[in-house]
Amino acid sequence: MRKKLIAGNWKMFKTVPEAANLVNSIKAGLSKFSDADVVICPPFTALQVVSQLVNESVVDLGAQDMHFETEGAYTGEISPLMLKDLGCRYVILGHSERRAYFQESDELINRKAKAAVKFNLIPIVCVGETLAEREDGRAQEVVRGQVRGSFAGFTPEEMEKVVIAYEPVWAIGTGRTATPAQAEEMHAFVRGLLKELFGESVAGELRILYGGSVKPDNTQELMRLPDVDGALVGGASLKAESFVQIVNESTHDTVKEGA
Ligand code: PEP
Repeated sequence: MRKKLIAGNWKMFKTVPEAANLVNSIKAGLSKFSDADVVICPPFTALQVVSQLVNESVVDLGAQDMHFETEGAYTGEISPLMLKDLGCRYVILGHSERRAYFQESDELINRKAKAAVKFNLIPIVCVGETLAEREDGRAQEVVRGQVRGSFAGFTPEEMEKVVIAYEPVWAIGTGRTATPAQAEEMHAFVRGLLKELFGESVAGELRILYGGSVKPDNTQELMRLPDVDGALVGGASLKAESFVQIVNESTHDTVKEGA
């Protein structure tokens, strides 16, 4: 059975006091026995304060990116060792905003994902096509290339330590969500690809999150899809009320068996 995972990506929002307020409200709103795993990914500057505040709560800490080296002359970068030091358990890698604005390639994401696994950080590796690629009928081809490239050289044992987020670029921050049929089609496609590349056990166990304008009122219909194992939430994770509602809706009526 795959446990649902709801991850909030705060992007470049929240000063330290704002982050502390938000995480306190999220903690207050969540039940102590959440049926889903819950992760919040604040900006680097707020990781320390949030780490202290989530300690011994149901909420885990994640970062939004990292470098693949442990240390070195890489001005402005943050290493996996530093994230571990702050108590991070997860790290988002290859978000479409990093791919688009910082030219991150599958090869770079692959190096980062390998480093994350080496440091016992769970990478949430993002894949997803643009609107033009979907309209060209190339959505699956693009996602296939991203999955193959991001996990090149991974063993099945390493793949058991990762999470994938399918985030169609045209649905991020646009208010436009993939229909349940579009989401399930791509999630099932990715699961089939994982089976082909890494075997049945990896494909059955690995969590595939959906991301792209997830909100309280569309959570249930997305989360009850057989191959959707949680959500990566941007905008709606910036308000405690909507994030908590998404967490609660995500396990509303689903008990899913592994494939
Ligand atoms: C994201 O940035 O990962 C995301 C899914 O954003 P939003 O929920 O705002 O579309």
